[in-house]
Amino acid sequence: MSPSIGIIGDGFGAAAFVLHLSQHAPEYLDNLIIFGTGTLGSGAAYACATPDYKLNVRSDLMRLWPDNPSHFTAWAKQNLDDDDAHHPAGAFYQRRDFARYVSACLADLPQKITQISEHVIQARALTDSADTRWQVETEHGARYQCDHLILATGNPKPIWPCSVHLPDDDKRLIQSVWKGDWQTSVGSGEDVNIIGGGLTAMDVIYALFQAGHKGQIKVITPNGMLPPVQMPWTVKPAFNWPECRTACDVVRAARSILGPDWTQISWQESFEALRIGLNDVYQGLSGNERRRLMRHFGGWWMLTRFRCGPHTHAAASALQKAGQLQVLSGRALSLDEHKANIQLTLSGGAALISDKVINCTGPAGDALLSSMMAHGLLQPSSSGRGISVSALLACHRPDKSPWQSLSAIGSMTGGSLGDIVAASSIARQASIVAQRLA
Ligand SMILES: Cc1cc2nc3c(=O)[nH]c(=O)nc-3n(C[C@H](O)[C@H](O)[C@H](O)COP(=O)(O)OP(=O)(O)OC[C@H]3O[C@@H](n4cnc5c(N)ncnc54)[C@H](O)[C@@H]3O)c2cc1C
Repeated sequence: MSPSIGIIGDGFGAAAFVLHLSQHAPEYLDNLIIFGTGTLGSGAAYACATPDYKLNVRSDLMRLWPDNPSHFTAWAKQNLDDDDAHHPAGAFYQRRDFARYVSACLADLPQKITQISEHVIQARALTDSADTRWQVETEHGARYQCDHLILATGNPKPIWPCSVHLPDDDKRLIQSVWKGDWQTSVGSGEDVNIIGGGLTAMDVIYALFQAGHKGQIKVITPNGMLPPVQMPWTVKPAFNWPECRTACDVVRAARSILGPDWTQISWQESFEALRIGLNDVYQGLSGNERRRLMRHFGGWWMLTRFRCGPHTHAAASALQKAGQLQVLSGRALSLDEHKANIQLTLSGGAALISDKVINCTGPAGDALLSSMMAHGLLQPSSSGRGISVSALLACHRPDKSPWQSLSAIGSMTGGSLGDIVAASSIARQASIVAQRLA
């Protein structure tokens, strides 16, 4: 009989694993359980109802099948009627349509996948042995056991990055916008302060623009800049990385190929060529050097790596030009009542008043992973971000030996392995784990 497999998390990574497993060991799908309360494959990124949230990369980069880059594009051409997606920089489809695509791939499977629609609050090893079985406990106290457990919990919803002196249920505070169900709670003429200036803020700006918003919009972000836009770049051969032992070596090598102007197509082409081998370079660094790299280079990397789609960029530019959108440099310190409005105080002391405040900061910490670390089942990565895993995605124990029966897929592995955020990198990981287990 095939081993039983449990997956904690029902998002894109879980769906990609199921699809890759169906290629390598389809019989294993009969003995697989997925824990999570959403629609399999959608997760935090694609479970959004609004047409205003678009993919931030063009369709050929949304790869469920690493060796078949045109799979989603071909499906989209056949199944979507979305003229607005097309742009000289590529086709940028709606995120909810990408969820439909993943569902369509799953629907082709002969087996029905078992999903337990509950949140997992605890996972524990049944013995000390590296190939132990696992027990998972859900929020309602149900317990399940499996031979192999996969952590695919994704990005936990953002929390406020500052102290909040207002009731938890204050309707003027919008804590997470990922679902895309907040738009009706913002009146057209209301002034809005947005905390965070990354791709989520760009989604919000685009949605407000599409709704013909009339009020003032302020974005507060540490570097005072919005993300750069995706260029119509073409794939160039991978950058030939020299041997890099230190963070300085990495930065020096990157500088040797990147010019000064990131608005040039050639800049993004060089950047993408450099990204191809970057994770191998990162994995060759010591923990100290990884931390140094992230400390000195991380902010710049986050800004240049996360490019927004052309639609959102055009909307933000139009609003800035009209004087309706301002981007301010600063960090949020607190949120307080101010007459009928909200005062956002920045760390430098400036006070910004608005009708609504929208939180567009990144993912919060993962309670399940923290609890597993506290129980000595997982080890933090040497760079301090996420958990420690092997190149084949086996989770490490505190003594650094790998569990044979515990794997992880997704951004929590980025501290160990490098740049693991995009759907395509997560699909590649899903394929690695499926092949290892098959
Ligand atoms: C808003 C947003 C937009 C994005 N847009 C893009 C994009 O356009 N292109 C791109 O390439 N990448 C994008 N990404 C990156 C994204 O991280 C990946 O594309 C991918 O969706 C992540 O897959 P995942 O399975 O790791 O996480 P998810 O798909 O989020 O899946 C994790 C699932 O696990 C569930 N879960 C968590 N903890 C538990 C628990 N304890 N018990 C049970 N279930 C649990 C969650 O509710 C969630 O449904 C985006 C990310 C976000 C957050």
